[in-house]
Amino acid sequence: MPVPYFRLKLEEAEIEAVVGVLRSGWLTSGAECAALEREFAEALGGGVHAIAVNSNTSGMHLALEAAGVGPGDEVIVPDLTFTATAEVVRYLGAEVVFADVLPDTLCIDPGCVRRLLTHRTKAILPVHFGGLGAEIGALQAIASEYNIVIIEDAAHSFPASAAGSAIGKHGSFATVFSFYANKTITTGEGGMIVTSDEAVAQRCRVMRLHGIDRDAFRRFQGDSSTWNYDIIAPGFKYNLPDIAAALGRRQLARAEAMRERRAAIAARYHEKLSSLPLELPPGAPAGDKHAWHLYPVRLTADTPTKRSDLEAALAAAQIGYSVHYTPLHRMSYWRERYGLSDDRFPVATDYFRRCLSLPIFSDMRIDEADEVVSVIRDLLG
Ligand SMILES: *Cc1c(COP(=O)(O)O)cnc(C)c1O
Repeated sequence: MPVPYFRLKLEEAEIEAVVGVLRSGWLTSGAECAALEREFAEALGGGVHAIAVNSNTSGMHLALEAAGVGPGDEVIVPDLTFTATAEVVRYLGAEVVFADVLPDTLCIDPGCVRRLLTHRTKAILPVHFGGLGAEIGALQAIASEYNIVIIEDAAHSFPASAAGSAIGKHGSFATVFSFYANKTITTGEGGMIVTSDEAVAQRCRVMRLHGIDRDAFRRFQGDSSTWNYDIIAPGFKYNLPDIAAALGRRQLARAEAMRERRAAIAARYHEKLSSLPLELPPGAPAGDKHAWHLYPVRLTADTPTKRSDLEAALAAAQIGYSVHYTPLHRMSYWRERYGLSDDRFPVATDYFRRCLSLPIFSDMRIDEADEVVSVIRDLLG
């Protein structure tokens, strides 16, 4: 039985919600978008601003812009992530400083971050790898000691929690989620910036739509007509259309149910694979929630086969798999720009050589997980 790496199954109500927007005559950002922002903030327990954008990438760009990151600044980013986490730093003309990750959680290593700090460090951009919380307390200690901001790349981690609080509620400068097609909830393309700082929220709102500030104009002119607005900066076109937001609202409503289904797949893998010579991904600490966006296993010194053998066996059985990620220091642009090499990133490099991400998605059935397990057991068991 073939098992894809990822499969999206939308519910009829989700499709109907999108069709409803198409029939309504209002396609761009409007009531659905505003409702999604409200409901997303509520899902995190309230007390935060949520600003919908057309991707996590654009959201991180806006958050860094709001933090005043620019030429001459440095932003510390984990080596083991998708290139979006780093590229947004370059959009603003600032420099990326790559840090190695911790061997267990695969999230940015706070010890490395400390060693990489300079007087130019403006921000740290941790990733909650695969949906497991990064070492947020240790990072916050560094940030407050050196007066730098934390912008969390939460592309993998909704819904999830770390150190007892939901990801998005740790009081960082901003936390940015992704609603890309294969993320834990989706709007096709989309994202959400979350912040508890009203000024940050306001800057992101203005900059996501051309730098238009209606409030500034009204204060100045005492004019409330809709055609009247001011432009306060060369902003971006990063708003989320209502077509997408309508889908997002229904996805949000079942986000926890979908997380539980992924957690059940992870538990099944753990139960059936733990006796094999493989290193399995750690669960969240007691009391915290893992979003289980990824399920990366690692071959060990005791694994009797090479990774390419495991890949071949899965491919022959038509089972999807992936690698998350080729470390950014191995990508031409980043390697050449900063003169990077493997020896600077021993943990990410070692992980990359041994890792393989198994299928995990909310529509996946237990018998599909068992199929993946049986192919692996046949090879290693
Ligand atoms: C998917 C992803 C992004 C980018 O998200 P988009 O919504 O596609 O912009 C950023 N960081 C990580 C770690 C991701 O996996």
